[in-house]
Amino acid sequence: MMQMPEPDPTVLSRRQAIVTALRDAVAGAVIDDPAETRAYECDALSAYRCAPLAVVLPRTTDEVARLMAICHELGVPVVPRGAGTSLAGGAMPTADAVVIGLSRMTDVIEIATGDRLIRVQAGRTNLSVSGAVDGQDFFYAPDPSSQLACAIGGNIAMNSGGAHCLKYGVTTNNLLGVTMVLMDGTVVELGGPMGEGPGLDLLGVVCGSEGQLGIVTEATLRILPKPPGARPVLIGFDSSETAGACVAAIIRAGVMPVAIEFMDSPCIRATEEFSHAGYPDCEALLIVEVEGTAPEIDEQLALIRDIAVTFDPVEFRESRSEDESRRIWLGRKSAFGAMGQLGDYICLDGTIPVSALPQVLARIGDLSRDYGLSVANVFHAGDGNMHPLIIYDANAPGDLDRAEALGADILRLCVEVGGCLTGEHGVGIEKRDLMTTQYAAADLEAQMRVKDVFDPNWLLNAAKVFPLDVSASRRDARPNATPHAA
Ligand SMILES: Cc1cc2nc3c(=O)[nH]c(=O)nc-3n(C[C@H](O)[C@H](O)[C@H](O)COP(=O)(O)OP(=O)(O)OC[C@H]3O[C@@H](n4cnc5c(N)ncnc54)[C@H](O)[C@@H]3O)c2cc1C
Repeated sequence: MMQMPEPDPTVLSRRQAIVTALRDAVAGAVIDDPAETRAYECDALSAYRCAPLAVVLPRTTDEVARLMAICHELGVPVVPRGAGTSLAGGAMPTADAVVIGLSRMTDVIEIATGDRLIRVQAGRTNLSVSGAVDGQDFFYAPDPSSQLACAIGGNIAMNSGGAHCLKYGVTTNNLLGVTMVLMDGTVVELGGPMGEGPGLDLLGVVCGSEGQLGIVTEATLRILPKPPGARPVLIGFDSSETAGACVAAIIRAGVMPVAIEFMDSPCIRATEEFSHAGYPDCEALLIVEVEGTAPEIDEQLALIRDIAVTFDPVEFRESRSEDESRRIWLGRKSAFGAMGQLGDYICLDGTIPVSALPQVLARIGDLSRDYGLSVANVFHAGDGNMHPLIIYDANAPGDLDRAEALGADILRLCVEVGGCLTGEHGVGIEKRDLMTTQYAAADLEAQMRVKDVFDPNWLLNAAKVFPLDVSASRRDARPNATPHAA
């Protein structure tokens, strides 16, 4: 079971004074009624919950700076929050923490299609960034499946990816600059319209730092002209391993699809019942999408067909119309919702070298049988970013523990084959204690020293990313902090 540090009693005892100070700084933005703060007790890792001390919903960078300065001065932990869709528990608070939520910070500040950029407040949702430039035939490429809800600030914190990131890269490859508020209230600008300047790549450090270094309040993002056309193909296989081998062959051949998505039979069946997309009844399928002019699309799809036939696919369905394309994507886009119908699930997120896909899928099957828990696979196969979904029953005693143990074994397997504990969902609290699988003590110490520079008192999202025992001495060194065991 995942642990959180005990709340600091010296903070809890000053609750009313803290709330008053926050209200004085930003009127009309503070929520402290326990019935309302409960809405912020978890993110999409809903197995773990804790209501915060208070929630504040500022509207401007200046308001965030004032709130941070107060929390810094009063020694109050802060948890930044976008839309709360993190699957790693990154936005889960502790009882002594103030949540600073950016849901009211949704403005578009500037659009410059000539310079291919947009500047937005960080609470704006991912999809509505593309929506803001759709009329000019531009789009913002990173497309997490949660894009209707998740916010750009959360995307930056988690360095989020999505189905189309195989070609366009993830958030860090599409981020030009940020305005960020440090824990003491200092406002810093990193990067800008031209991207990161000379000197250390601090923008690269901030992107993916999981709300540990500062609160991003504004972001300058790369936007791209929409491609002339795009067409997906659906390829069905009689085994997951064969589908995995086909992915490796496509990548090896040097074709650059915009997306290669994988679904196995438990996932296909669940999404079919949920969305009626017309998927074939097979053991695994790939959705491969290519972009370009009509002749470019034809050429790439012909290459993909030539590769696929060598794996004896049970189905090769090339889209011929907008409606067919929509139906091919329909099941994939509704996969997470559909899996919710099967029971409670933990959605893992690890990366592996693409060539290891067949071996890893076979091993996940073995582990699933050993633990007696179903695992459904749906993921961005082209860049080796796996999302095994472990189905369990939250009401069955011990089931969550077993599911977590299975998840840990699968993530260890990802590291063992040369991959990584996280591809896009981040470490949060979910994978915090597995960090020692991937990193030596000296590596973790170096990473924590980076946090020391930005947040010397370890007030910002400080129970995330690093194993609690590894980071305890830093949290305990906070002025006024009461030392506690992890
Ligand atoms: C159904 C579903 C599908 C998903 N699909 C994908 C996917 O395809 N790809 C993918 O990458 N992820 C996916 N996710 C995970 C999640 O949507 C992403 O991690 C997303 O970027 C989180 O954004 P958010 O605004 O909800 O952030 P939150 O959940 O609110 O916060 C996430 C983390 O960012 C920090 N944070 C939030 N805002 C800021 C800020 N302004 N400044 C500093 N730190 C901040 C928080 O403290 C926390 O640590 C999915 C989630 C769900 C529920």
